[in-house]
Amino acid sequence: MVRLCSRCHHRIEQSDGDVAHACPQCGAEAGLEEVLPTPFAVRLFAVCLVGAVLVAGSAVALAIL
Ligand SMILES: [Zn+2]
Repeated sequence: MVRLCSRCHHRIEQSDGDVAHACPQCGAEAGLEEVLPTPFAVRLFAVCLVGAVLVAGSAVALAIL
């Protein structure tokens, strides 16, 4: 499991049975958030967004020429 300290953004990598109660870097005891893997739908949306931006950019470039 990977957790992220919301105070100093330090990544804390730990095994499943091990739970950190404080950030080893800044000592914060609150705000250690579990980092979840990006859902497939969100990745798909990002790919579509990048594709749309590229297509729009090409259209603008052709319109100018
Ligand atoms: Zn920290």
